Amino acid sequence: MTGPDPPDSTAAASGAGLVLTGISELTTADSGLVVDGPAALVCGADGTVVWAGPQQALPEQAGTERVDLGGRAVIPGFVDSHTHLVFAGDRSAEWEARMTGRPYQTGGVRTTVDATRAATTEQLASRAGRLAAEALRSGTTTLEVKSGYGLQPEAEARLLSIAGGITPETTFLGAHVVPAEYEGRRDEYVDVVCGPMLRRCAPLARWIDVFCEQGAFDGDQSRAVLLAGRAAGLGLRVHANQLGPGPGVRLGVELGAASVDHCSHLSAADIDALAGGRTVATLLPGAEFSTGSAYPGARRLLDAGVPVALASDCNPGTSFTTSMPFVVALAVREMGMTVAEAVVAATAGGAAALQRSDVGRLVPGRRADLAVLEAPSASWLGYRPGVDLVRAVARGGRLVAGSWPAGTGREPPAGAPADRGAAADR
Ligand SMILES: [Zn+2]
Repeated sequence: MTGPDPPDSTAAASGAGLVLTGISELTTADSGLVVDGPAALVCGADGTVVWAGPQQALPEQAGTERVDLGGRAVIPGFVDSHTHLVFAGDRSAEWEARMTGRPYQTGGVRTTVDATRAATTEQLASRAGRLAAEALRSGTTTLEVKSGYGLQPEAEARLLSIAGGITPETTFLGAHVVPAEYEGRRDEYVDVVCGPMLRRCAPLARWIDVFCEQGAFDGDQSRAVLLAGRAAGLGLRVHANQLGPGPGVRLGVELGAASVDHCSHLSAADIDALAGGRTVATLLPGAEFSTGSAYPGARRLLDAGVPVALASDCNPGTSFTTSMPFVVALAVREMGMTVAEAVVAATAGGAAALQRSDVGRLVPGRRADLAVLEAPSASWLGYRPGVDLVRAVARGGRLVAGSWPAGTGREPPAGAPADRGAAADR
């Protein structure tokens, strides 16, 4: 339970743009996590949260636009800190073969690289835009987007330019895999990534990332890429310990990476390193779902006090989903996270993984980015799997997807008992 900040009726009354009432459960993702309803939230005209707390303490006459949510839950907008949205091609046959255990000659990431290089900029931008819109409709209000399917200086720059049209959180991932033309010349390719490719791409990116994994880039090569990126002014992220144990997590912590992502195979030393550093461990269970692999051990991380984020890893090969509600459901069902832990990891955790202090929580001063659920509580994200529960999405206090509940807001969420007393226990 979160105690609200002491109500400041002056600020709430003068600067308000939108007031939401009738919230059945308000997840602030602050230290107290949840305000039980009825709760209310006031957004300032500048798009930030001005006040959040129990409705009975709502300052009088706050706000200009008032929306009664009629007993629906509100959570912060999701912060999806790991996606690969800019690509061409379709790898559904590869996925289907994997699911049925049939052998499939796959080029993996290289298949997508070929298709992406062959696509026009318009085709790439159009598809990435559609995926970003899809993410927004499912409640994602902040999105990170990586390059990584060009693997040549101009090709990577083109992907980053497209990503920059979607989000400021752009990540240069030239060190995704070694492209076919550098087969057997891995070190030469690393030199290109750290040299001409980085020079071309650094102005278009906020972050640099490397796939530190057996078969991709080893510890020394990953270190070279990250240090070059840091020297070019980029923040650090690492794809680490996805397919097996390796040096990626400890390297990320040592170099002060904002986040190490995947963390599916962690040793005790990896967890110790994370617990002693400030690097966020970002878990991507959509990848395990789509590849049939074992899920990461979230409980070990949480119990060790490691900051944890959840993200979609949206990509055409191993996790083709933009749905953060689905990721939350997986985290609760498969990884032993509580609903509150999963929602916080998918919101405040993602913000921490992007070192953003302006989004991810519904507390005064942060941007009023939020999702209204067609549900009385956030637990329904897992309780009603596969159902689109995001009714409305606001960014900066403005409706950007879905719609507010109509009328007086007395209509209960679909599936909710209209009268609790009459609800039979089935
Ligand atoms: Zn990834």
